[in-house]
Amino acid sequence: VTEDPTAAALAGVLGRPQVITDPSLCASYGTEPTGRWRGQPRCVALPRTTDEVAAVLRVCAARRAPVVAQGGRTGLVGGGVPGNGEIVLSTARLSRIEPVNLDTAQVTVGAGVTLAAVQSQAQREGLLFGVDFGARDACTVGGMVATNAGGTRVLRWGTMRDQVAGIEAVLSTGETISHLTGHIKDNTGYHLAGLLAGSEGTLGVITRVRLKLRPGNPHHYSAALALGSIGGAVDTLTRLRTSLPTLDAAEIMWSDGIRLVTDVLGVSGPFRDPPPVVLLVDSAGPAEHLDGFAAAVAACPSVRDSVVATTAQGRAYLWEVRDRHGEAVHRLGTPHKFDVTLPPGAIEDFERAVRLLVDRLAPGATTVIFGHLGDGNLHLNVVGPPPDDPTLADAVLRLVAGRGGSISAEHGIGRAKLPWLELNRSVAELAAMRRVRRAWDPAGILNPAVL
Ligand SMILES: Cc1cc2nc3c(=O)[nH]c(=O)nc-3n(C[C@H](O)[C@H](O)[C@H](O)COP(=O)(O)OP(=O)(O)OC[C@H]3O[C@@H](n4cnc5c(N)ncnc54)[C@H](O)[C@@H]3O)c2cc1C
Repeated sequence: VTEDPTAAALAGVLGRPQVITDPSLCASYGTEPTGRWRGQPRCVALPRTTDEVAAVLRVCAARRAPVVAQGGRTGLVGGGVPGNGEIVLSTARLSRIEPVNLDTAQVTVGAGVTLAAVQSQAQREGLLFGVDFGARDACTVGGMVATNAGGTRVLRWGTMRDQVAGIEAVLSTGETISHLTGHIKDNTGYHLAGLLAGSEGTLGVITRVRLKLRPGNPHHYSAALALGSIGGAVDTLTRLRTSLPTLDAAEIMWSDGIRLVTDVLGVSGPFRDPPPVVLLVDSAGPAEHLDGFAAAVAACPSVRDSVVATTAQGRAYLWEVRDRHGEAVHRLGTPHKFDVTLPPGAIEDFERAVRLLVDRLAPGATTVIFGHLGDGNLHLNVVGPPPDDPTLADAVLRLVAGRGGSISAEHGIGRAKLPWLELNRSVAELAAMRRVRRAWDPAGILNPAVL
C-alpha cells in the first residue's frame, strides 16, 4: 500500500501490479551502464497499452508531477534517468510486434520492443532493419526514435528518423496522436514523426512506431584496411563511397585503441602490429559483389594492407576489436565520453588538436578515439580527469563547434550536454524549440531536466 497520492492515483488507473513503489525495486530504474547518471524514481508506472499511457499522463499532468519516459536506459547522457525524483514511465510492457506487412515491407511495433527483436522479425521475412549498434539487446524502438539513434549503417540507410514510416504518441494532455498508415507519399501537413525523432521524451511518449524494412542482403563481406593516417582513411572512404554502392559500414580505429582492446580484453586484432589507423568496412549485397568489393578496395592508394572476411565467423572476428572498444575503455575507469560529428575535411586536424588539448588540460589522461567514419562521427573517450569536471568537456566541445561539427552526433543532449547546446543552435532556433515544447507539453511535465 502506497502513501504517495500520485502513485496511488496511478495504481487507481493502471492497477496496483503495474505501479512499483518499493524504493529498492524502484532503484534499478534509476541507473544506467556508465554509472555516471543516477536517480531514485518517485515510482515506476508500467502501462501495457497506449490508453494506459494516456491515463498515466493525465494523472501526472493534473498533479504537475514530472515524468521521465524510459526505454532500455542505454542512452548514456542522463536522459532516461530520473535525476530529480521524477516518476518513471517505463515502456517495457509496450512490447507487441505485429506481423511484417510484406506489401509495404514495414512492421509496426510497440515502443518497448528491443532493436534485436525488430532485427529478428525482419530477418524471418528475409528483410533487414537499417539500424544496428552494440546496445541492440537492451535499447528500445521508442528510445531509438526519441534519440534519433544512428549506429554503424547510417551511411547506407540513414538514422532512426529515416526508418520511421508512422508513429503513435501520447501528449501530456492525454491526447493520442496516431499516424500509422505507413504511406511514404503523404504530404498532409507537419511531419510530426520527424519532430518526435530526437525529442528525447520532451514532446510526448512514443507508444508505437511503424518501421521501414530494407531488402535482406544475404552476403556480407568485411575488410580491415591498414592505413598510415586518418587522412588516408578519409580519402579511402571518399573513394569507396562513390565506387562501391554496396558499402554498408565504415568504422575507424586508431592503433592505441586497438592495443588497449587486445591488451585489456585478450582479443586478437586483424594485424599483428596494428597500423596507425584501421578502417573497417562492410559491404552487403548479392554473392557476386565480392569481386567488386575487392576491386574497389584495391583501387584505394592509401591502403597498405588488408584482411578480408567472407564468413560470419571471420566477420565477427574483425568486428570484435571494434565493438569492444567501449568495454575496454571502461576497464580503465569512468570516461569522459564525447560523441561528435566533424565534417570529413576537418577530421584529421581535429584529431591532432584534440589530443594536444587533452595533453594540456589533463596530462597523463588516456585518450581513445574510434567511431563511425562513414558519418564523420567520432567517439572520443578520455579517462583520467574526474568525470564531473566540466573543464575538459567545455574545451573539447568548443573545439568541435569551432571546426563546424556537431557536439551531439548520437544519444541526444540529455542532461550531459545541456550547457553546450547553444554552441550548435542559434538564439532563434532555441526560442523556436522552446515554443514547440510549450505547445506540445503545456503542463511542462515531460522530462523537464532534459534538452
Ligand atoms: C554499448 C552501447 C552502444 C551504443 N551505441 C550507439 C550507437 O552506435 N548509436 C547510437 O545512436 N546510440 C548508441 N548507444 C546509445 C543508446 O543505445 C541509444 O541512444 C538508444 O537509442 C537509447 O534507447 P533506450 O531504449 O535505451 O532509451 P533510454 O536510454 O531509456 O532513453 C533515452 C531517451 O529517450 C527517451 N525515451 C525513451 N523511450 C521513449 C518513448 N517511448 N517516448 C519518448 N521518449 C522516450 C528518454 O526519456 C531519454 O530521454 C549505445 C549505447 C550503449 C550502451
